[in-house]
Amino acid sequence: MSLSNGRPYLAIPGPSVMPEEVLRAMHRSSPNIYEGELVELTRSLVPDLKAVARTEGQVAIYISNGHGAWEAALANVVAPGETVLVPSTGRFGHGWADMAVGLGAEVEMIDFGRATPVDPDRVEAALRADTQGRIKAVLATHVDTSSSVRNDIAAIRKAIDAAGHPALLMSDNIASLACDRFEMDAWGVDVMVAASQKGLMVPPGLSFVFFNDKAAEVRKAMPRVSRYWDWAPRGNPEFYYQHFGGTAPTHHLYGLRVALDMIKDEGLENVWARHERLARAIWAACDVWGQGNGALALNIADPAHRSHAVTAARLGLPWGKHLRHWTEHSAGVTLGIGLGMSEPDDPKGEGFFRFGHMGHVNAHMVLGLIGVVEAGLDAIGAPHTKGGVTAAAEIIAGAPVTRLLAPAAEA
Ligand SMILES: *Cc1c(COP(=O)(O)O)cnc(C)c1O
Repeated sequence: MSLSNGRPYLAIPGPSVMPEEVLRAMHRSSPNIYEGELVELTRSLVPDLKAVARTEGQVAIYISNGHGAWEAALANVVAPGETVLVPSTGRFGHGWADMAVGLGAEVEMIDFGRATPVDPDRVEAALRADTQGRIKAVLATHVDTSSSVRNDIAAIRKAIDAAGHPALLMSDNIASLACDRFEMDAWGVDVMVAASQKGLMVPPGLSFVFFNDKAAEVRKAMPRVSRYWDWAPRGNPEFYYQHFGGTAPTHHLYGLRVALDMIKDEGLENVWARHERLARAIWAACDVWGQGNGALALNIADPAHRSHAVTAARLGLPWGKHLRHWTEHSAGVTLGIGLGMSEPDDPKGEGFFRFGHMGHVNAHMVLGLIGVVEAGLDAIGAPHTKGGVTAAAEIIAGAPVTRLLAPAAEA
């Protein structure tokens, strides 16, 4: 017997759970791609995307996943032979840096490891040391999806300004957009990349590059930009096909329209607050499971540096692997794998797992997720302290945040 029949729950950090409303909007025949409804709908997306990014800048939409957005952003502002500075946490900074290498750029990497955020002072020092002004852009990751660290993007802008350096600040918000608070203009971000399949609740296949006037000027001074990635016609199209450099991603656009309506109806501040509360419920459960001789530990120790979209945890071998197997096959919940977490005695990082809690998630889903994990810890015999579900339910019920931050002090 298995208890997994019923609605499956993909609780990984992207693709995220898609709302029925989004799926229904996509379930339709193709529209005319030259005039009428689709053209109007596309036009309506632009201000709403900019509102989610908190920017007055422009947005270019691509038919691609997040890797495409990485390449698109770089292709517009970094020429072969130019240098980018990459303060990297976890895996994803390395991924973006690798795209830069592929475009012929030089990469200066500061690796902060997989459990700590970017230290802005070291970014400032690296920029001060760049007396030749070689560094064209700083590539930062807002939320690193492998480690679940959340970096302080505004502090990185302050570091760039303190060094008096003209480099562009580019931010990867693929995991965090519409989950963790982000203010593109107020935080001084010049270029921001995002994708459809995480906080935006649409299937993988659309990506977004937001850019301000400063970045647009840098683009204009480029010797050349690849036609397909060029953000200028996409951001400001003379003809409809230029929005997408060809045929529009028709059905994704219908889905995105509904997803942006849902975010607008809830209110972006409320969306962020929901993600924060649900994340705290997961952390509270993990804190309890890890008490005593419990094997579970959150990857990011300081709650102030944790993402509200994804949570990485270490359970050790063989438990991490067994837990994921049990929740999927016995309970219908798929947890995320450990990514970039290999250790000498765990080369595949299978002692780690991740909770994805981005986008269309609510209290009953997260409590179900936590209940299944607690049952799973019991079923596989992993050392843990019981009571995670109760602790999470208290957070959901509105318990003061301090209870979560200091569970030991409660006892
Ligand atoms: C998911 C993700 C990516 C990669 O996106 P793909 O759609 O898989 O190409 C890049 N950066 C971050 C922070 C992500 O979460």
